[in-house]
Amino acid sequence: MTRPPRETGRLTEVLRTCIGCRERADKTTLVRVVAARESDITVVTPDLSRSLPGRGAHLHPTARCLELATRRKAFGRALRVEGPLDLTRLSAMIDEATPAE
Ligand SMILES: [Zn+2]
Repeated sequence: MTRPPRETGRLTEVLRTCIGCRERADKTTLVRVVAARESDITVVTPDLSRSLPGRGAHLHPTARCLELATRRKAFGRALRVEGPLDLTRLSAMIDEATPAE
C-alpha cells in the first residue's frame, strides 16, 4: 500500500529539501537515505528502492552535497541519530552515480 503524496499548497510534485545544499528539489532527483544500526555504528544507507522503513533524509547524489551534509553534521540531525556515522556505503553509491569527467 502506498500513501498518496501530501499536497503542499498548489504544488503537486513532491518536494524534499536536500540536507546538503538545502535546496528543495523533486524527490525523484534526490536519494533517500536511512540510518541502519550495525553494532556500535550507524550506517547511512542509500534507500534506492525507497522502501526501507524508518526515518529518512534526502540529498542530491553528488559529492558536493555529501560533503556539505557531512560538514554541517546534517545526517545525525536529519536521521535523529547520535554517535559515529558510517558514510562509506553512501559515498560509494554516489561515486558510482557520478559520471566521470
Ligand atoms: Zn543538494
